[in-house]
Amino acid sequence: MTKITVAKGDGIGPEIMDATLDILMAAGARIEVEEIEVGEKVYLAGNTSGISSDSWDIIRRNKVFLKAPITTPQGGGYKSLNVTTRKFLGLYANVRPCRSLHPFVSTKHPVMDIVIIRENEEDLYAGIEHQQTDEVVQCLKLISRPGCEKIVRYAFEYAKQQNRKKVTCFTKDNIMKQTDGLFHQVFDEIAKEYPEIENEHWIIDIGAAKMADTPEAFDVIVMPNLYGDVLSDVAAQITGSVGLAGSANIGEECAMFEAIHGSAPRRAGQNVANPSGLLQGAIMMLNHIGQSPVAEKVQNAWLKTLEDGIHTYDIYKEGTSKQKVGTKEFAQAVIKNLGQKPSVLKPVSYSGHTTMNLPKYKRKAPARKQLVGVDVFVHWSGTDPNELAQKVKNLAPEGTQLSMITNRGIKVWPDGFKETFCTDHWRCRFKPVNGTPFQKSHIVNLLQQSMQQQIDTIKLENLYEFDGVAKYSLGQGQ
Ligand code: NAD
Repeated sequence: MTKITVAKGDGIGPEIMDATLDILMAAGARIEVEEIEVGEKVYLAGNTSGISSDSWDIIRRNKVFLKAPITTPQGGGYKSLNVTTRKFLGLYANVRPCRSLHPFVSTKHPVMDIVIIRENEEDLYAGIEHQQTDEVVQCLKLISRPGCEKIVRYAFEYAKQQNRKKVTCFTKDNIMKQTDGLFHQVFDEIAKEYPEIENEHWIIDIGAAKMADTPEAFDVIVMPNLYGDVLSDVAAQITGSVGLAGSANIGEECAMFEAIHGSAPRRAGQNVANPSGLLQGAIMMLNHIGQSPVAEKVQNAWLKTLEDGIHTYDIYKEGTSKQKVGTKEFAQAVIKNLGQKPSVLKPVSYSGHTTMNLPKYKRKAPARKQLVGVDVFVHWSGTDPNELAQKVKNLAPEGTQLSMITNRGIKVWPDGFKETFCTDHWRCRFKPVNGTPFQKSHIVNLLQQSMQQQIDTIKLENLYEFDGVAKYSLGQGQ
């Protein structure tokens, strides 16, 4: 018997969770449910995080969490509880299988069977955002070596365990040479350890277009957080419905299982929602806790039900479907089919699909790190970069000089184009003059000077070389 934490969530959450648990229990899952309240109700009751500390204790104690969707306020309000949970619990791998169920669920892609493995903790989802000037806000994109190593290794181990043939990596490293560049580099390093599995890299834009057009060309796809968020919804949708896909969020200690869709508030309380996405999450949970025979039984009964044409409104189609049913009736139909297998769709076999024990991340010996300059970001509402250059040149401590000014990344001084549009957010790069070593004290002097001369410095970024290689971006056009 495994104790699991269950949250019924918001919107259609309670209905699809009840349906899912009914199916699991009828299939003989050896689980004991401990329910917690999370999301909108908790938030409206005055707990601004949307979850109480007692609930966190329960989640951490049970380690396995089955969660229905939660409503997240857009723009203001509390931070997404989903994102918080994934990060607090170190759930670094988000696994989303997307498979078509042709001819029973209408899709333009009858032979699609891909698994998207999305990095789940970092990238732009670090959620570190600041407004810096009247006109400019920023979001920090953080990519770490441990983050990349863990997710890429997970993708290859997953492919190995599930007999998949290829792992593809999507990044935009032609533009983000440092962040996405690291992800790609780590992918190439780790791929070498799995010679039996084919590997390839695509630039995300054309890769995404190819995936949406010819998904059968892909098998397992691994990618950074934001791209994975967007593309896993695309992948699920083109199998026929976002309502059909579930996801596993896996960490070294804990795991959370859910549907990929949201709380669909407009559909709540009408017994119309499709419980399949959450059920798919629950099936991955059963595999994770070592109950693969039950997982297999539920999945085959679910496939049989879809094959029988018993469909909820989102996938119901005149001609292919036989009966339009509500949430509860769909669950009853799956329960009736427990023990049966689909006859047209391929029945599943989950032997060996257990928790993977991945090696722990090992920190490498530190590189030789050398400070070689600084980018000083300035809020200035003038328009002529030459005028700004004259002002900030005077900030340079002895042995250093202003080497470049950019605006939104494009070089505007020296030799800028008058056509380039400029905002009030300027990056002024200071570097040492002919070989003088650059020191932290130079930065302190620069800041003091900028205060004295009433230059509004809003942020600094140190420029470093690691083992002699410059690890900062050039200005566009530089
Ligand atoms: P959504 O996925 O909730 O719904 C979009 C549309 O898809 C719905 O209107 C409905 O037509 C359809 N749909 C989704 N799930 C379905 C199902 N099971 N059965 C039938 N049809 C289904 O997306 P949204 O409207 O953008 O988001 C609603 C709320 O959910 C937001 O507050 C959002 O932040 C939140 N959300 C939560 C999660 C999560 O908890 N993991 C994920 C995504 C969105």
